Amino acid sequence: MKKLLISLLLIFCIGCTFTFLNETNINISAKSTKETIMIDAGHGGYDVGAESFYGDYEKDINLDIALLVGKQLKSYGYNVVYTRTSDSVSWPSNNKKDLQARCDLAKKKNVDLFVSIHLNSSEYEANGYEIYCDFNNKNTLKVSNSILKQLDQFDYSTNRGLLDTNETPLYVVKNNKVDAILIEAGFISDDSDLYYLKNHTKNIATAIAKGIKKSLN
Ligand SMILES: [Zn+2]
Repeated sequence: MKKLLISLLLIFCIGCTFTFLNETNINISAKSTKETIMIDAGHGGYDVGAESFYGDYEKDINLDIALLVGKQLKSYGYNVVYTRTSDSVSWPSNNKKDLQARCDLAKKKNVDLFVSIHLNSSEYEANGYEIYCDFNNKNTLKVSNSILKQLDQFDYSTNRGLLDTNETPLYVVKNNKVDAILIEAGFISDDSDLYYLKNHTKNIATAIAKGIKKSLN
């Protein structure tokens, strides 16, 4: 009888320990849940975007930056999803369907932030970086300002500031169901910007990732 009681007590204790461990695991994983960020490399596939005087395509530089931003964010512990990770795209060769597909992906994956990466181009002399966001959205204003601050640290070009998508509606920002921003990282038409974009891509990506991290902390 005594043996039976001890055995039952032992089984009960083991059971309690497992329950405790399971609860501890749940708490740990809940605490380490970080935001999911979608990185959108602008253009791609049929759409080359802007083109430099030397034949560089905007879509390729956007992708290089985007992949490095994602890598950096992953190292900070964020969940990262991409709209594309190569030059092959999952949407039809149609501008409106293309942009809508990117917005749909953001909604489907239920991301916390959508970051679109692009380059500017001008037939006139112009350089610098700028970010489009909805000025009525405090979250995206904060993250955009934070990224600009980080880009400033590399001192590679002009800070052209923030632009309001209520004045200049951009499809992937205006039609997104999640918080969205669009970064123009520099002018592909400017020699100095282009040199930096191609040769110091990692710095630009680091600035974007750090800016996101600092604003979400
Ligand atoms: Zn573009």
